[in-house]
Amino acid sequence: MKEVLILHYLDHAATTPIPTAVAQAMMDVLTNQFGNPSAQYPLGQQAKGLVERCRATVAAALGCPKDRLFFTSCGTESDNWAIQAAVWQGRHIGKHIITTAVEHNAVLEPLKFLAQNGYEITYLKPDRTGHITVEQVADALREDTILVSMMLVNNETGCIFPVKETAALLRQRQSKALLHCDAVQGFLKVDCDPVGWGVDMMSLSAHKIGGPKGIGALYIAPSFRNPRPLLPGGGQESGLRSGTEATAQIAGFAKAVELRQEHLQETLARMAALRADCLDKLLTIDTLVEVAQGDAPHILAVSLPGYPSANIVSDLGSRNICISAGSACHKGKASHVVSALGLPKRTAAGVLRISFGPETTEEDIDALVAALREHKEQRFPML
Ligand code: PLP
Repeated sequence: MKEVLILHYLDHAATTPIPTAVAQAMMDVLTNQFGNPSAQYPLGQQAKGLVERCRATVAAALGCPKDRLFFTSCGTESDNWAIQAAVWQGRHIGKHIITTAVEHNAVLEPLKFLAQNGYEITYLKPDRTGHITVEQVADALREDTILVSMMLVNNETGCIFPVKETAALLRQRQSKALLHCDAVQGFLKVDCDPVGWGVDMMSLSAHKIGGPKGIGALYIAPSFRNPRPLLPGGGQESGLRSGTEATAQIAGFAKAVELRQEHLQETLARMAALRADCLDKLLTIDTLVEVAQGDAPHILAVSLPGYPSANIVSDLGSRNICISAGSACHKGKASHVVSALGLPKRTAAGVLRISFGPETTEEDIDALVAALREHKEQRFPML
């Protein structure tokens, strides 16, 4: 009889499983509340009401006014929109942008395009622990800086960046630069208060918190009046991001937020405890090291120097244990985040990202540790 393998999913920073209640909320919209929110008749108005209730739910979780939260198709779109809007807003001020060398490609790629078109980008490098300081931003800030784009939590190391302090710095220097924060990995995982901190734009994505793929949001501060629309068209999302609303996705996003908010602090504490336990157990494997010193409760980066991470990921994958070799977006290419950490070559080549969610169990961790130990015992180092 064929052995049934239990899935040990430890890649929650790549994407998350969808709880049944989220799928049901989406199913209800797909089958019952399928109207177009722009339609006049009750079915349409019902859909419009649903979208607005969902907006209120996500906005409340972020602590922002509901009319300043705009749905997008993903975190990548939110990042691209924020950058385009900032560039347009600052077109008479300058062409200098500050970011970190370890942002997600959803930020780095649009900035690369701008660099090819006359913009000057300063990339702040993290230290060996993976952190960036507000002093680095202060040193890079200039009169002609129009945007600082800094993520809240790095998706490969779990390091929290000084977004709050950067907002305070920009205020203190009376800088005209806008502050954008990619909070895709930080929302509902770590402290996140765009309004209280004074962040101008913040990107979110549903599929990192138990929601569906293909839905994100961008918060735009009330002080940023008349931002440049991303998609001119039928006038949805207050005329800023046209396109018929993805009602089922939006319902799934809001339901996921609701579920995550229930017992949030206990869940985060449990995730942090599992992460600490996982690290302790992994460190019993000879030569394994922690890479960077992440602070977020859901991401752990380690390395088995000499053992290429791609081989480990595929070996563990064949045993139904899902982890990642750095960001899932790299598809085998060396990660720019790992490169920026300046690790020795053998360590850099063996970096693994393990990431946790509310569903993670002790058994998942034990299965991972046993499989990794076995991998090391059965293979010779290749590097
Ligand atoms: N920003 C960060 C930090 C991410 O980790 C990701 C996804 O991995 C994204 C942006 C892109 O989000 P999406 O997959 O919704 O486009």
